[in-house]
Amino acid sequence: MRSLGSLTRYAEGRLERLRDAGQHRTLKPTRRMAEGRAERAGRGLISFCDNDYLSLSCDPRLIAAASQAAEQFGVGAGASRLITGDGPLNEQLETRLAAKKGLEACRVFGSGYLANIGTIPALVGKGDTIVMDALSHACMHAGARLSGAEIRIFRHNDLAHAEALMGDAPGQLLVLTETVFSMDGDLAPLADLGALCERHDAWLMTDDAHGFGVLEQDNPAPLQMGTLSKAAGAYGGYVCGPAPVIDMLTSRARSLVYTTGLPAPVLASALSALDVMDAEPERAGRAKAHAAHFCKRLGLPAPESVIVPLIIGEEARAMAISAELEEAGYLVTAIRPPTVPQGTSRLRITFCAGHSQADVDGLADALQKALRS
Ligand SMILES: *Cc1c(COP(=O)(O)O)cnc(C)c1O
Repeated sequence: MRSLGSLTRYAEGRLERLRDAGQHRTLKPTRRMAEGRAERAGRGLISFCDNDYLSLSCDPRLIAAASQAAEQFGVGAGASRLITGDGPLNEQLETRLAAKKGLEACRVFGSGYLANIGTIPALVGKGDTIVMDALSHACMHAGARLSGAEIRIFRHNDLAHAEALMGDAPGQLLVLTETVFSMDGDLAPLADLGALCERHDAWLMTDDAHGFGVLEQDNPAPLQMGTLSKAAGAYGGYVCGPAPVIDMLTSRARSLVYTTGLPAPVLASALSALDVMDAEPERAGRAKAHAAHFCKRLGLPAPESVIVPLIIGEEARAMAISAELEEAGYLVTAIRPPTVPQGTSRLRITFCAGHSQADVDGLADALQKALRS
């Protein structure tokens, strides 16, 4: 007889606190389809909350590549890449990614999250210092904590603050930021940040999860990570950098060494996505044009990326507007604490290549109506 009394009581207590704080989250069964379409509870919806910016996740070419790779290589990698031997698709993908980033070498990880929590602790540890933007993604914060280095956080995009924190920092300095901020859609001042890091002999590592394939910027960072799970429409993460660093990560990044490699169908679909990105640059252009058109319609400042945050403030109001939009046929999830700071609950609206102009106008109409009520 197992005694689960204290375990379930613990969970129930935590759930009650989450509910009281309005932070209890649930999963909603949803079928995603091509061109930003989705189906939930039997209703067709247009999704404006995907990171599938180029609408590649349901693209027939990626699907065909995945099916073929499954036939040829099977669906599981069997073990860590260091144990079973490395399938050919990993290397092909890494070569393509390094070339795309203009960096010497690349290592593909199981996900962007795994790339960050493996790479950061492989670079710095106890006695070193990490200086990071306050709005860096949760997995950069997690990687920083895992490293054991001292963590200093600068106000979002405030380089004077960053520099002040670098002054007396012990050990090696590692600076972390995003290229395109995931919840705000604004950009990091990469050139200035690169120069600052140069002056302080700090290593700069950027997270390009929301730039990759959509908004490629000049980036002076010697270490650039990103994900294949967003614009590339597939799954996985990567880190590009100098060859010796990548070589070292292969032995030292625990989230590479101690976890199973990506399945061949996933790698093949990511490779196919890179082909489509090269062949059809207009896909990124369409997503950006949609974001710009939407902002104009709502009288918002011109967007810097394909992510448009509409800050509502109150969590309950953000939830109510999101529900009203869903009623009207548009999927726009409310983002609330702890994902974003208290009092900045928002609708995070993302635009994809597969949306039509009519989709975007429809959303703008529905949103204007919801905001008035
Ligand atoms: C989504 C995201 C990640 C994690 O990537 P996954 O491949 O989904 O694990 C990392 N950083 C940022 C900024 C992200 O938005």
